[in-house]
Amino acid sequence: MPFCNKCNRYLLFKNTTCRCRRFECCIPEWEGDDEWSDQYAADAEEAASKYTERRDECEYDCLKGPVKCRVLDPQDDSVQIFEVAAETEIHYHATQVEQ
Ligand SMILES: [Zn+2]
Repeated sequence: MPFCNKCNRYLLFKNTTCRCRRFECCIPEWEGDDEWSDQYAADAEEAASKYTERRDECEYDCLKGPVKCRVLDPQDDSVQIFEVAAETEIHYHATQVEQ
C-alpha cells in the first residue's frame, strides 16, 4: 500500500502526490517552550494531532487529559494553539469458563 513518506498518510494510488506540508510543533507541557519539531500534515490541526500522537505513543499521557500543542506555520510565521485529547476504545471479548 502506498503511503506518503512525510506525513504517513495512506495514498489511494501509487503515483498520487500528497499535499502535506511542513509545520513546526511544540508541546510546552512535555518539552519546554523552545523545543520545536517538524511535522508534515495537510493543515495545522492535523499537524497538532499527528505530532501529539507521535510524542505520546509510549506513555499515553493524553489519556490523563488534553494537552496544548503549538503549531507554527512557516509560510506566514503564525502560531496556532490546539488542545489535543485522546480516548481509548473498549473491546469486549468472551472466554468460556463453564460448559
Ligand atoms: Zn504527506
